[in-house]
Amino acid sequence: MRCCMCNKEMEGTHPFIKEDYLGNNAWPIVEGGRCCDFCDCALVIPQRMGQGAEMGLVLWKSRLEMWLMMAKEYDDADALEFLKQYEI
Ligand SMILES: [Zn+2]
Repeated sequence: MRCCMCNKEMEGTHPFIKEDYLGNNAWPIVEGGRCCDFCDCALVIPQRMGQGAEMGLVLWKSRLEMWLMMAKEYDDADALEFLKQYEI
């Protein structure tokens, strides 16, 4: 499935959900749409909260940090490898 906002293929973009990744609810930007994690953090959540791009970047960084923390917690080698691309 592709992100309804940036059109990126979402399969393979989540460190823990490998197959049939359905992304996030894109409301209120796209009614009924599904979006990737970056668009969720950078655009959708700030929009819901009446905030701008600055908050979006903070959210995206904290999602990456949360993923890294979970990958370490579960000792998930695949997820740790996946997260290297972000150089967190
Ligand atoms: Zn996207």
